[in-house]
Amino acid sequence: MRILLVEDEQKVARLIAQGLGKEGFEVDTASDGQAGLQSALGNAYDLLIVDLMLPKLTGSELIKQLRKSNGDLPIVVLTARDSLTDKLSNFEAGADDYLTKPFALAELLVRIKALLRRGASNRSNILRIADLEIDRVAHQVKRQATPIKLTSKEYGLLEYLASNAGRVLSRSMIVEHVWDQSFEGFTNIVDVYVRQLRAKIDEPFEVRLIQTVRNVGYTLVDPATA
Ligand code: CA
Repeated sequence: MRILLVEDEQKVARLIAQGLGKEGFEVDTASDGQAGLQSALGNAYDLLIVDLMLPKLTGSELIKQLRKSNGDLPIVVLTARDSLTDKLSNFEAGADDYLTKPFALAELLVRIKALLRRGASNRSNILRIADLEIDRVAHQVKRQATPIKLTSKEYGLLEYLASNAGRVLSRSMIVEHVWDQSFEGFTNIVDVYVRQLRAKIDEPFEVRLIQTVRNVGYTLVDPATA
């Protein structure tokens, strides 16, 4: 699940991004309203977290403009303001939830998960490939109904491969998506993580789902349908 966080206070942004990262979410950040709106319009996010007091474009303006073209994206507003009028005007603008600073990361997490679950009717939150089952909200993985415990990066890698099942993903695409970075020479880490992931989700089972595509990268595919 990919989340966009628009927050101009670097320290707060870093704390939230780290906290959500630990839970296996991929978090992109933008530090002003204009940049946030551009990112939100140009990428497919599963959820937006937005501060209200932002340089260039306020959080409320961002939400209003974004809602013209994207009515489904779950939006959580973060703000130091706690007056009722502010809350109401933001719900009118199209926010789905509201959190007043200071807040506990655990509370933000609970609300995010609730919003993502609520959106489950529009989008399938369970990915199934052969006997592999991935719950994108609970971040739970099963094969042949056996729960498999993954680290957050292993989970992120698996979810990326599975949501693009049948498509070949290059090492640099994987690094950019799962690590939110584009660094040269770091693509070896993908091989390391694929090896770890295979040991957990493929090797104990009869059918191998993760395939190496020589000189290109990897693909996850159900051999029965390939
Ligand atoms: Ca702010």
